[in-house]
Amino acid sequence: MVSKILIANRGEIALRVIRACRELGIKSVAVHSSADDKAMHVRLADESVCIGPASAAKSYLSIPAIVAACEITGADAVHPGYGFLSENAKFVDILDEHNIGFIGPTAEHIRIMGDKIAAKAKAIELGIPVVPGSDGEVKNVDEALKLARDMGFPVLVKAASGGGGRGMKIANNEADLPEAFTTARTEAKAAFGDDAVYIEKYLEKPRHIEIQVACDTHGNAVHLGERDCSLQRRHQKVLEEAPSTVLDDKARAAIGKIVTDAMKGLGYRGVGTVEFLFEDGEFYFIEMNTRLQVEHPVTEAITGIDLVREQIRVAQGQKLSFTQEDVSFKGHAIECRINAENPETFTPSPGVVQTYHPPGGLGVRMDSSMYSGYAIPPYYDSLIGKLIVHADDREACLMRLNRALGEFAIDGVETTIPLFEKLLPDEDFRAADYDIHWLEKFLGMKD
Ligand code: ADP
Repeated sequence: MVSKILIANRGEIALRVIRACRELGIKSVAVHSSADDKAMHVRLADESVCIGPASAAKSYLSIPAIVAACEITGADAVHPGYGFLSENAKFVDILDEHNIGFIGPTAEHIRIMGDKIAAKAKAIELGIPVVPGSDGEVKNVDEALKLARDMGFPVLVKAASGGGGRGMKIANNEADLPEAFTTARTEAKAAFGDDAVYIEKYLEKPRHIEIQVACDTHGNAVHLGERDCSLQRRHQKVLEEAPSTVLDDKARAAIGKIVTDAMKGLGYRGVGTVEFLFEDGEFYFIEMNTRLQVEHPVTEAITGIDLVREQIRVAQGQKLSFTQEDVSFKGHAIECRINAENPETFTPSPGVVQTYHPPGGLGVRMDSSMYSGYAIPPYYDSLIGKLIVHADDREACLMRLNRALGEFAIDGVETTIPLFEKLLPDEDFRAADYDIHWLEKFLGMKD
């Protein structure tokens, strides 16, 4: 059994894990950079270790520093949160070598899903529907042109090692393709050190719908329904909701079965998310995230299941605490990602939070590591909190969101709260009539 968990992360997700540990009677260890010595996760954990300077490469991404922190504190498992080392297979191998548990899947599964070409091939093998596209890597422009002509334009050139929407270029026609191909390759090489790219049919008005799964080491794989994450800016999610207004119970059960059968076939362990584009009633796999996701609370809200608790159970070799039959969906939930950014230009706005008064009340959950007087460092992601509201139906959820946003008081830094206030009265948004390109049009963004 696990008795002490080291959280290899910071911010709201570190808090989220510390809270689950405390409720399970497990000790928690926070690690932090020298820029984060006053961070809330350091204050809330049972113990803390400084693992390096402000630069993430030398602290939160330093495998030797994190392993040393486990050795010093006697932590017997690591929770990676999301981002940083959460999808780093080498990290899992090294923890294994040191006999330290990893709260997540096996290194092998992380490796397969981390390479988009391998992941897509695996998805096909497991019976998951995929976006039509090249059969693996595309090596040169001529090959790309031939494939695109067969497939029909527009097409998307994507980096095999891609993430965070980088290394992705659209070609609307033959003339666009050589440049899209070369730029995607160059960007991929610069961002990920790997210039392998592949080609997919570019879907013009899909929604982004992802299925949450949880699996244990006793052969159980259960799906917890979907999240609709279509509201994106530069391929980054901004607001997520569950359930999606475009799926009925039958469609949900059908895709859920495809995904859970695939996870059983894979022998997957832990929680994971299978991401799809959804257009004209069809699902197309785009990738699998082998970790807890930022937007997991909307699923927790409508199912009442604590996903971090389940992750820890599974890592201890226990069974999931529920079966598929136990899972039911109640009401509607929406999450707003609150970033310390200018709400119009999206320029990061680090600095001292003068006042911090988050909303509360029935159906309101605030996951954040902010406090009055906290200085947001400029070195990390600008996500400072997530506001999650839950109500009986979508209409009530929108009313509650409006109420909660109105209560929010945060001064000293700019945040994206005004963006959500602007979004709420919009008719298309209220009718959930949107696709993955809708938000950028709403924001008046050119390419
Ligand atoms: P990343 O790992 O960089 O986030 P994904 O493959 O998950 O990349 O895609 C991110 C987003 O890019 C999707 O949510 C969607 O908005 C868009 N996208 C990806 N593939 C396609 C496609 N074939 N057609 C249209 N949009 C796509």
